Amino acid sequence: MVWALKRQGATTPRVSGVDLADGICSLAAKRGWSIYLLGAGPGVAEEAAQKLQETHDGLKIAGIRDGYFSEAEEIDVIEAVRDAEPDIVFVAMGIPRQEKLLSAHLGVMGAKVGVGLGGSLDVFSGRVKRAPVIIQKLRVEWLWRLILNPSKIAKVMMLPKFMVHVMREGR
Ligand code: UDP
Repeated sequence: MVWALKRQGATTPRVSGVDLADGICSLAAKRGWSIYLLGAGPGVAEEAAQKLQETHDGLKIAGIRDGYFSEAEEIDVIEAVRDAEPDIVFVAMGIPRQEKLLSAHLGVMGAKVGVGLGGSLDVFSGRVKRAPVIIQKLRVEWLWRLILNPSKIAKVMMLPKFMVHVMREGR
């Protein structure tokens, strides 16, 4: 993303999903905005909520739901989010499902902001460790995550396709 944005003339530092979510939680706790946590395995989002509330005093969690449900159950999940009336929805269900869900249903959910967070709830819960800082600084955190979870290879293989799209667009 940093590379693609630079080609469009926008220079930005790398911001991981975990850092972005942490920053949003900090702001939300100060402003009184509530957050709905949707995604990750059963129990993970509850643990993540507890840790986030320990770090961000006063953080309001509007609701919690794991990310393992069928297409048929999706409408009930979306309605549950809407009924909880969150200001922000974090959807941590992996690429591309979280983006598709937000793109199709954020309006119905009623939240002002929806953010796709990949595996961030696993990290906040403490079940998954982030890469050492040196790996993050070398900008190869993706490689670390791939080594720990080789089934991610299909997602990593999409990156060259993304680069080709960006280069074509830039012409
Ligand atoms: N996940 C989910 N529902 C699914 C599949 C995955 O909630 O149907 C969760 C999974 O438990 C994990 C996250 O989505 O917490 C995906 O993490 P991953 O690191 O694979 O995401 P990426 O950042 O690569 O998109």
